[in-house]
Amino acid sequence: MDFKNRIAVVTGGGSGIGKGVSLSLAEKGAMVIIADLSEDNAMEVVDIITDKNQKSEFYKLDVSNSKDVEKFGDYLKEKYDNIDFWVNSAGISKITPFFDHSEELWDKTMDINLKGQFNCCKVAVDRMLENNKGSIINLSSQSGKVGTSNYQAYCASKFGVIGLTQSLAAEFGPQGIRVNSIAPGVIYTPMWDQQKIDYAKKRDLDPDHVMDYFKNKIPLRRLGTVEDVAQLVCFLLSDDSSYITGQTINLNGGDIMF
Ligand code: NAP
Repeated sequence: MDFKNRIAVVTGGGSGIGKGVSLSLAEKGAMVIIADLSEDNAMEVVDIITDKNQKSEFYKLDVSNSKDVEKFGDYLKEKYDNIDFWVNSAGISKITPFFDHSEELWDKTMDINLKGQFNCCKVAVDRMLENNKGSIINLSSQSGKVGTSNYQAYCASKFGVIGLTQSLAAEFGPQGIRVNSIAPGVIYTPMWDQQKIDYAKKRDLDPDHVMDYFKNKIPLRRLGTVEDVAQLVCFLLSDDSSYITGQTINLNGGDIMF
């Protein structure tokens, strides 16, 4: 896959899945704009990329703040003629019993995971309409396909991402813009450092046994990796998937099959 001269934006590119996707896109020749809250993490990724003479820059962005995202759009318009690829990976996740779901947790989860992707898709589609071409990937989750206990806000936000994806794909397909979503199962990233403790409480497990618990219920008997996600993202961004839009692709070792 050759992404030379392609311009890509990755939100949440400073950590986990977004980091893996950013490294992979840069490896294939794309210029990668890493838009993230945390400057330290994102700059580490930019440095890894530029040390290899590949192309990347950092833009500090809170995806939940529509004014911030609009300004980011103005910046992109001024600096780049077009945007080819956009990956919405920024997100948060909290496992906690339903009656501990505060209004604040609900609002924050929706603001970042769902409104954040809505804000970013507005800019992405606007930039892609310049050339009537582009490909967008929204990170949903296995929890966007099936609800699980103690996870109401997160599940609702990730179900919402699938609706947002389908609706955009229907509206902008005629203008050459494809919008797809990915539903990963468990991918061990920094997100799981705290989350495995919360999950252990939910299942009454030792936190050190949580990942083995997951592995044993997955038909392929392993967790997903950020490289697994990056490969699928690259395929869905590329022209190799030119007839695929509005889809949510499971990436879960067979854990769920619908
Ligand atoms: P991660 O390692 O925690 O990375 C998330 C990144 O998003 C971090 O760099 C974080 O920055 C950034 N972020 C958070 N809030 C933001 C905001 N308001 N504006 C801009 N950036 C923000 O998580 P991950 O595991 O890679 O997850 C990436 C995406 O995949 C998420 O959407 C997640 O829901 C989804 N997903 C993950 C899994 C999994 O098992 N890991 C499974 C299914 C779906 P800070 O560090 O500064 O907060």
